[in-house]
Amino acid sequence: MRIIDHLIAGGFAGAESGRTGDVFDPNTGQVQATLRLGDKAALDAAVATAKAAQPGWAAINPQRRARVLFRFKELLEQNMQALAELLSAEHGKVIDDSKGDLLRGLEVVEFCCSIPHMLKGEYSQGAGPGIDVYSMRQPLGIGAGITPFNFPAMIPMWMFAPAIATGNAFILKPSERDPSVPNRLCELMLEAGLPDGILQVVHGDKEMVDAILDHPDIAAVSFVGSSDIAHYVYKRGVAAGKRVQAMGGAKNHGIIMPDADLDAAVSDLVGAAYGSAGERCMALPVVVPVGEETAERLREKLVAAIGTLRVGVSTDRDAQYGPVVTAAHKAKVEQWIQTGVDEGAELVVDGRGFSLQGHEQGFFIGPSLFDRVTPDMRAYQEEIFGPVLQIVRARDFEEALALPSQHQYGNGVALYTRNGHAAREFTQRVQVGMVGINVPIPVPVAYHSFGGWKRSSFGDHNQYGMEGIRFWTKTKLVTQRWPDGGASGDSAFIIPTMG
Ligand code: NAD
Repeated sequence: MRIIDHLIAGGFAGAESGRTGDVFDPNTGQVQATLRLGDKAALDAAVATAKAAQPGWAAINPQRRARVLFRFKELLEQNMQALAELLSAEHGKVIDDSKGDLLRGLEVVEFCCSIPHMLKGEYSQGAGPGIDVYSMRQPLGIGAGITPFNFPAMIPMWMFAPAIATGNAFILKPSERDPSVPNRLCELMLEAGLPDGILQVVHGDKEMVDAILDHPDIAAVSFVGSSDIAHYVYKRGVAAGKRVQAMGGAKNHGIIMPDADLDAAVSDLVGAAYGSAGERCMALPVVVPVGEETAERLREKLVAAIGTLRVGVSTDRDAQYGPVVTAAHKAKVEQWIQTGVDEGAELVVDGRGFSLQGHEQGFFIGPSLFDRVTPDMRAYQEEIFGPVLQIVRARDFEEALALPSQHQYGNGVALYTRNGHAAREFTQRVQVGMVGINVPIPVPVAYHSFGGWKRSSFGDHNQYGMEGIRFWTKTKLVTQRWPDGGASGDSAFIIPTMG
C-alpha cells in the first residue's frame, strides 16, 4: 500500500505516532493509500526547521522570492494533467474540474508574483520639522494553514502563496481525505528553488490541529472548513495569542426574479448546484423563485435539465460530476435527503440509490431536487454539501432578500434579474459576503479577496488579494528625524504634536 507521509525539512519524514488513516478512491470505494497521521513531535520538527529557515527567507529581496513563485507557476503548468488526475483520483471531481481547482489557486500565485509592489509602504515627507514618517510590512514569522478536502489545490495556494511571498515560513495541514496533491505542490515549490523549511506539509487530524493551535512559535493560522470547527479553531487560536482567519460552511441562495432569463439561470443553477457533486462552499444548493408563476416554470425547466445530467467516474470526459469524497459523506448527504422528506419537503427527484455499472462500490449519489422547502426545516438551515438542490418559494422581492440575509451562513448569493434597480437594491441590502448578479458562483478573482459573513467566516481578514497580504504581515511605522546638527536641548514632557 502506498504510504503518504509528511514533508518536513525538504524530505519525507517517516516518523512517530504510529496512527494512520485510509485514503479512498471514491470512484471504486477502495482504499488506495495509507496516510501517516502526525502528532506534536512531527509538528515540532517542522517548526524547528521553519524557525531556522525563515529569517534568511525574509531577508531575501521580494523580487527574488517572486521568482520562485514564477518558476513554481511554470512547473505547475507543465504538471497540470498529472496533478489533475491525482486530485480527481482522491477527491472524485471530474478531471476538468480538478484543473479548475489548480488554476484558481495558480491565479493567486500569479497575483503574489507582484509582491515587491504590494510590500511598498507609505511615506510622508515633512510630517513635522525635519520629521518623515514611513511604514513597512514585515512577515509574522511562522504561519500554518489547515485546509478542507473540497479544494485540495486551490485553498492551500490561497494560503501559502501570500504567506511565503511576504517572507513567512508556512506549514500546511491538508485534509486527510485527499492529501497527495498538497504534497506534490510542496515538492514543486522546492523544485522551483524554495529553501528547505519555508513550505512544509504535516498530515493529521484533530490531534495535529490542536498541536498547531497551541504551538507557541506559530504566529498565525489560516483555516478553511466547516463552521463548527472553524469557530473552534478561531477561539482556541486567538486564546493562544495567534492571528486567526477561519472560513466556515455555507448555504448559498440563488434568487430568480420574474424577469430573469430563465433558461440561462437554469443552466447556471444546474452547474452550480450539482458541479463537483455539490461539494463546493460556493455551490448554489438553494434556489428562490419569486412568485408562483416563476416557481412553476423554474421547476419544470430544472426537472428537464436534471434529467440530462450524467454522473460518472472522474475520468469520464462526458460526466458532469463524479462521486462524493467518502462513504461516510455519502451516508450523511443521504441522511439529509431523508430529513428533508421527514420534515415535509417535496422530493421531486431522488438521487439516492444511484448505482454506476461497474463501480457499484463507488460513492456516487444522483442529483436530488426538493420543492416547497421552508425556512423552519433543518434540511434548509444546515449545509448538506452534496448534489441536492432545494426550491424555497418566495412571494416577493422582500421575502427573497430576507432568506439569505437571515440564514446562519453568509458566504455567497446570486440574483438573476434584468432589472438594474432591483440588482442594486439587492447588492446593497443583502447580508452576505460575496454577491453574484446573473453570476452563479461569484468567487472573486485573485486581486480582490474571498470571504463570507456570519458563520461562514471568523476573524477579520479575507483570503488572498490585498487582504491576504495584510493577514500575513504586520505593519511597522517609522517616525524619523534628521536634525541639522544643532541639538535643541529642550526636553518635552507633553505628548509631541505636529501643530
Ligand atoms: P472539515 O471541517 O471536516 O475539515 C477541515 C479541516 O479541519 C481538515 O484539515 C480536518 O483535518 C480538520 N478537522 C476536522 N475535524 C476536526 C476537529 N474536530 N478538530 C480540529 N480540526 C478538525 O471540512 P471538510 O469536510 O474537509 O470540508 C468541507 C467544509 O469546508 C464545508 O463545510 C465547506 O463549506 C467548507 N469550506 C468553506 C470554504 C470557505 O472559504 N468558506 C471553502 C471550502 C470549503
